[in-house]
Amino acid sequence: MSIQAKSSFFTGLQDNLDQLRTQGLYKPERVLASRQGAEVMGEDGRMLINMCANNYLGLSGQEWVAQASIAATEKYGYGLSSVRFICGTQTVHKQLEQAISKFLGTEDTILYAAAFDANGGVFEPLFDENDAIISDALNHASIIDGIRLCKAARFRYAHNDMADLEAQLQAAADKRHKVIVTDGVFSMDGTIAQLDKICDLADKYGALVMIDECHASGFMGPTGRGTHEHHNVMGRVDIITGTLGKALGGAMGGFTSARKEVIEMLRQKSRPYLFSNTLAPAIAGASLAVLEQLSASTELRDRLHENTAFFRSEIERIGFTIKPGTHPVVPVMLFDAQVAQKFAARMYELGVLLSGFFYPVVPMGQARVRVQLSAAHSRAQLVTVLKAFEQAGHELGLLKN
Ligand SMILES: *Cc1c(COP(=O)(O)O)cnc(C)c1O
Repeated sequence: MSIQAKSSFFTGLQDNLDQLRTQGLYKPERVLASRQGAEVMGEDGRMLINMCANNYLGLSGQEWVAQASIAATEKYGYGLSSVRFICGTQTVHKQLEQAISKFLGTEDTILYAAAFDANGGVFEPLFDENDAIISDALNHASIIDGIRLCKAARFRYAHNDMADLEAQLQAAADKRHKVIVTDGVFSMDGTIAQLDKICDLADKYGALVMIDECHASGFMGPTGRGTHEHHNVMGRVDIITGTLGKALGGAMGGFTSARKEVIEMLRQKSRPYLFSNTLAPAIAGASLAVLEQLSASTELRDRLHENTAFFRSEIERIGFTIKPGTHPVVPVMLFDAQVAQKFAARMYELGVLLSGFFYPVVPMGQARVRVQLSAAHSRAQLVTVLKAFEQAGHELGLLKN
């Protein structure tokens, strides 16, 4: 590369970054000076009520979870300096895999450094050019990337559209094995996949079902097992991927859970597992303590759903439009991108942290702020947040009532 070509590489990057800024697509990072929780401290020392974390059960900043991670570090050390199959598996990793399997109602589980890796490494070892992967159009980026790494034929069905799913199953009829893949819950709208119908269609066409439970594990369903429990199809879903980085403690780490032959094959062939380091013992130990707690009591899950029901009904009473549903993701619709940005900025001034989403993250004209409830929110904090919504809504002339 000539000096000139090299410098044009960097100026090109700078131009593209500047363009993102002028298009309003640049993503700045908020810096917190405290633990994650219902309230967080901003870099400037101001306290903010946090309505935008995936901290559904409020465990991220909890002292007992931090202590469980410290205890695991004391016992097992800081890290393994190895992948699992060489000398990177400890008793705590096996215990966590068993605990996840028991919690989800599956046979076996394999741990990854992230759910992104679980999804990235699940397709290629299990499916090849003789097979078909039938994927919801709005599936998470990590599913899309995982499918790209696999030679199977790809079929996409319109988001949450069961008639189109059936049409795609018919289009894939001549393939050897078929797998339907969907997020259990879609995080932009809080939409819950129609797993009962999906499992029925899978039975009709002899397909497998795989779900990504990142926004469900720990709190969806009567005992928090996930979307499969919510839709009463436990035992009918073949492959479950999920994260330890959201409701289940919030650090990082992911997993795939399925029949034992599936997991055994992934341990042999899944590249993000074979060629990436073991999950830190601190995370494995704390996740284990979290699953024990969630198996013993539904208190956190129940509080989360109470908070969600309260917030959903109050925000509508004030006069905002939300996407209907029951999930703790509550999209408060503002429709216009600039309004959504202004609104989120005003809420920040009023002491509430939330995120605005607009095109191209959501469809044109569907701009919103996304609220995420947590079991950690007190009723008083939610009332404060609702008052701020009302004030900002009045100021910007957004309220129906
Ligand atoms: C967050 C998320 C992931 C990625 O999880 P990580 O463990 O953070 O890599 C994957 N799929 C879905 C649906 C998610 O929401």
